[in-house]
Amino acid sequence: MRIILLLAIMIFSSGISVKANEMTQSEMNEKRMELYKKTEIATGVPWFYLAAVDQYERSIRNVRKDLPKPNGLLGIYIQPEHWTGITNPDKKDVNPKSISFFNGLGQDGTGDGIADPNHTEDVLFTIGNYIAQYGTDDTRFRLALWNYYKRDKTVGAIMSNTQVYRKMNRINLDEKAFPIPKGYNYSYRDTWGHRRGWGGRRIHEGTDIFAGYGTPVRAVAYGVVELKGWNKYGGWRVGIRDLNNTYHYYAHLNGFAKGLKIGDVVQSGEVIGNVGSSGYGPPGTSGKFPPHLHFGMYKDDGIKEWSFDPYHYLKVWERTERKK
Ligand SMILES: [Zn+2]
Repeated sequence: MRIILLLAIMIFSSGISVKANEMTQSEMNEKRMELYKKTEIATGVPWFYLAAVDQYERSIRNVRKDLPKPNGLLGIYIQPEHWTGITNPDKKDVNPKSISFFNGLGQDGTGDGIADPNHTEDVLFTIGNYIAQYGTDDTRFRLALWNYYKRDKTVGAIMSNTQVYRKMNRINLDEKAFPIPKGYNYSYRDTWGHRRGWGGRRIHEGTDIFAGYGTPVRAVAYGVVELKGWNKYGGWRVGIRDLNNTYHYYAHLNGFAKGLKIGDVVQSGEVIGNVGSSGYGPPGTSGKFPPHLHFGMYKDDGIKEWSFDPYHYLKVWERTERKK
C-alpha cells in the first residue's frame, strides 16, 4: 500500500515538472497559481509579486538568446553563480549550508536538504525569501527588484505585472482584442517600414487602422497605462505595457476614455480612447491627415527595446474575435 502511494506521489510530482509542455495553457496557469500560493504561505510574500517576477522572466527568456528557453512551469532563471555564490568554488553546489556560506541565493524549498536550481519549488522559494528580506509592500518590493536587476525598465515591467495580477486576482489573462470593436467600419494594410510624410526620415513603426472620427479604440491586452498625453508626432496617445513586457502604442487619438490615467490597469477589450487625426504639430494640432489609429508594438527583452510589425498580430486578433 505504502509503495503504491509513494509511486503515485512520484508520478504525480514528476508530472508537474516534466510534462509541463503537454498541459494546456490554463492547466499550466492553475499549477503555477498553486505554486505561488504555496510559496506565499512559506515565505510571507504575496503571490502576485512572485507571479509578476515569474511572468517577466518568462517573457524575456522567450526572446533572449543568452538565456535558456523556459521549458517548465516556472519562468524564473537564476544564473548558476548567483545560485551557488560568486566565490563558491563548486559551481554546481546544491548544499544549502555551503551555498549560504558563499552568499549564494539558492535555498531548499522542499525540505529534502538539496537546493536544486532545476526544481521549481526551490527556485520560487529562493526568490520568495530574497524578496522577504526586504519586506512585502510595493516600496520594498521595488527596492528588492532594483538590487536584483539594476534596471529601471525591468522594475517598471515587473511592477506593471504586479498591478494587473493584484487587481484581476488571477493569472489566466491571455485573451486579446482587436482595437476596433465589431460594428464599426475600418480598414488597414501592412505598412510596416514605409517612409513617413512628416518629421524627417523616420520609418513607419506600426499599422495604421483607418476609421471614422470617434470610433472607439480598445486595449488589445491586459496591462498598465504607462504613458498618456501629447507628442508632436503621435498627437494624443496612450502607451500600455502588457504582461509579456510588450509595449502597445495607440496614437492620433481624438480623446481618451473618461478617467483614464497613468498607472491604471486596463483589461483586454476595454475602451481607452477614440479615433482622431491629432498630431504632426504642437498640442491640439489635428486634421493634417485622415483619421486613423496608429498602432505600434515594442518588445523589451530586459536589455533593449525594439519595435516590430503588429500587422500579423492584428490579423490574428481580428480573426479570433470574428469566430466568437
Ligand atoms: Zn501610423
